[in-house]
Amino acid sequence: MKNRTSEFDLAMVTRKFYCHKCGDRLARNAHTRTIKRGDPDYREHSSFGTKRVIGDIELTEYDFKCWTCNRIINPDEQYVIERMQNMLGKHILTDEEFAETEEKARAAIAKKRRTTDIVVKAVSITVALLVLFLWIITKGGTGFTFYF
Ligand SMILES: [Zn+2]
Repeated sequence: MKNRTSEFDLAMVTRKFYCHKCGDRLARNAHTRTIKRGDPDYREHSSFGTKRVIGDIELTEYDFKCWTCNRIINPDEQYVIERMQNMLGKHILTDEEFAETEEKARAAIAKKRRTTDIVVKAVSITVALLVLFLWIITKGGTGFTFYF
């Protein structure tokens, strides 16, 4: 039995990415490999939520390719490049611009990730408290007993 799965960030589909060397639009580049039971990364790819698959997994992963420069770019790298392109307001970056902006772009992405994490946690806590509150009021009693 073969299980097929593909893994990619939503951003790869929803945003356009450009080569920082030539400015051409980058293409998504698919790699498919088979992961067998006992392979080091089998465990990581064999569960979907609470479901676990049995048998080999055919995994498709994506990176970016510039067909003009014939270059493959890792998505995490390209997200940094995208940020640098936005900061400088252009697609083609010189080596100097690349060197000057890279650290700032990485810091900006890291900061955004931290903010997103905090928001996600805050929302989760609010929802949990709301559920607890609703549970308490629907029980309708005055003396609360908590069971853990
Ligand atoms: Zn290119």
